Amino acid sequence: MTVRTRVAPSPTGDPHIGTAYIALVNLLFARAHGGQFLLRIEDTDRARSTAASERMILKALHWLGLQWDEGPDVGGPHGPYRQSERSALYSEHAERLIQEGKAFRCYCTTERLDALRAEQRAAGMKPKYDGFCQHLTPEERAEKDAEGIPSVVRMAIPEEGVCRMHDRLRGDIEVAWKEVDMQILVKSDGLPTYHLANVVDDHFMEITHVIRGEEWIPSLPKHLLLYEYFGWQAPEFVHLPLLRNPDRSKLSKRKNPTSILWYERMGYLPETLINLLGLFTVSVGEGDEKFTMEEIAERFDLSAISLGGPVFDLQKLDWLNGRWLRDLPAPEFQSKVAAWASGVGPADRLLGLAQTRIERLSDLGGLLAFFFQGRLDIDLAALEASKLEPESAKKALQFALWDIDAVDEWTKEAVERVLRATAEDVGVKFRDCVRLFYLAIAGSAQSVPLFDSMEMLGRDICRERLRHVLELYGGVSKKQGEAWRKERAAAPRPEAVTD
Ligand code: GLU
Repeated sequence: MTVRTRVAPSPTGDPHIGTAYIALVNLLFARAHGGQFLLRIEDTDRARSTAASERMILKALHWLGLQWDEGPDVGGPHGPYRQSERSALYSEHAERLIQEGKAFRCYCTTERLDALRAEQRAAGMKPKYDGFCQHLTPEERAEKDAEGIPSVVRMAIPEEGVCRMHDRLRGDIEVAWKEVDMQILVKSDGLPTYHLANVVDDHFMEITHVIRGEEWIPSLPKHLLLYEYFGWQAPEFVHLPLLRNPDRSKLSKRKNPTSILWYERMGYLPETLINLLGLFTVSVGEGDEKFTMEEIAERFDLSAISLGGPVFDLQKLDWLNGRWLRDLPAPEFQSKVAAWASGVGPADRLLGLAQTRIERLSDLGGLLAFFFQGRLDIDLAALEASKLEPESAKKALQFALWDIDAVDEWTKEAVERVLRATAEDVGVKFRDCVRLFYLAIAGSAQSVPLFDSMEMLGRDICRERLRHVLELYGGVSKKQGEAWRKERAAAPRPEAVTD
């Protein structure tokens, strides 16, 4: 048997550092067994998936030096490797399950399902579909279909017994079938959900080991049952612990940058990131922690992965990155610097921005320094001099942070829309608000044009800089944040902020 593993990102946002970790472990495992590793794009969620996100994910994983044997960009014998191009396969398999009584069409309305859930919650039960449509007669179904009532396809779940599962790192796991919901397999638009597409693809792509994040453990009973329904051999499963912040909370962009693009932009080397992520997969003593990808591959040991949760520690990353940078031979160091600097943006565009504000050529350094910096030193006194009350400033920063994440394509037009909508929603003059954003983003209220700068800096750096100033103001309590969210949801928006 040839070992085949895969990473299967959904292109619904920035390339996440957790995806890099999962990809790395899958790659190392396949390599250790002389097998193959592939990349599949899981874009069944048509509303949230974007081509831009897919491009960024591929680019970020390539930048890290991770290579796949098959994938949407390199092709391969089991393609297409993008789920949106495999719809017919999923429909055919859903139909097969319906014919065999292992799935059924469900015509329940959202109102009925909401009422059912509310009732179950009130009775202290876990909300779950009650099987209402499972036993409709063929005549009743024909009638509903003739009336054009929309339907989804749900999988049948045994009413009794337990599902026995095995995970390489976690051993045996048991779940009573009555705890498992009758999962939707095909949505009313005819497109599959992740569960159906994932199982069908893993089978046809001949995946032998599914190594993924622990957030998928609750889905495992449904996946195993689908393999059984289709009469297929299930792969082996390994659910990796999620990356954590040093305080052991889940790594999330609200606390720390999670986008690989941010790390690239901040001047971390791909080698350092692979080094830090790879350390979670090897058993090493104190001291010897600087490893290349090859050295990690030689030491890779799946069972070394601790279930306690790997801590993605930025301080350790800084320390490791410093070692990597200082150890580089001079010519390599120079080429790394050149590659990084060109990633900051094209020189002609940077100079074009500076030219609009320049008096002497020697102003250039001061005008453009913020493009080449990480976290800025913000002068709190300058903030106090701004015309905004601290409360309004905090609100503006928080509103902008929310909107920044809602923007699809990060362009200067989108940035302008976000900032104008923010000022309007907070009820302050745009002129006053924009000073605050200048300070946060460029470190000074007089700087080169803001919207262009923010586009060039990228969403992640901007998010981090706004969050930094929000913290200088003392941050926003959970309670306050929730109150603002409600207030904002109730207020009519001047215009939609997404692209
Ligand atoms: N598309 C899923 C994700 O984004 C993949 C889960 C899996 O590996 O089965 O995490």
